[in-house]
Amino acid sequence: MHDDLLKILLTKEQIQKRVAELGAEISQDYVGKDLVAVCILKGAMHFMADLTREIPIPLTIDFMAISSYGAGTKSSGVVRIIQDLDASISHRHVLIVEDIVDSGLTLKYLMDNLESRRPASLKIATLLDKPARRAVNVTTDYNGFSIPDEFVVGYGLDYNEKYRNLPFIGVLKPEIYTK
Ligand code: 5GP
Repeated sequence: MHDDLLKILLTKEQIQKRVAELGAEISQDYVGKDLVAVCILKGAMHFMADLTREIPIPLTIDFMAISSYGAGTKSSGVVRIIQDLDASISHRHVLIVEDIVDSGLTLKYLMDNLESRRPASLKIATLLDKPARRAVNVTTDYNGFSIPDEFVVGYGLDYNEKYRNLPFIGVLKPEIYTK
């Protein structure tokens, strides 16, 4: 599997350390608040599992499954909700937990969708950010790492549903997705 990677961008240790920092920051900001952490499946699965274990204050978790990319490497901007939240978020403090913000189109759609459900507040935690590729104006509240414009996989992130199980984040060789 490593043969498909150009290089490792973030090691397991680097990710763990940064996720712990984010967890501490989030815990401070949400003391005494009714927090619901919303994992955006499937890419944010590992980030969500690790991040919530670094947040010792009470919270509930919920999941939303969306699809934006299909089999390609570019966002279409067309987002499909495959699985919606279980519980109402009305008057609750919602933290979206995302894997990566690229063009921002997916997040923009999600923000608009969740905002219409009248949460008390709506913030975003993303593990990765590719600021160079932003096409719409969305700002993240908790950002793990800003990364260059390269297609990455691992730690939940896939290409054609593969590589999600890698414990680190690596840059995929372009020949894998151009062939
Ligand atoms: P956006 O709508 O911001 O362009 O794209 C967001 C979604 O595209 C992410 O949630 C993720 O699923 C996917 N994505 C964007 N960049 C990458 C990348 O470098 N690697 C992988 N595996 N997925 C990406």
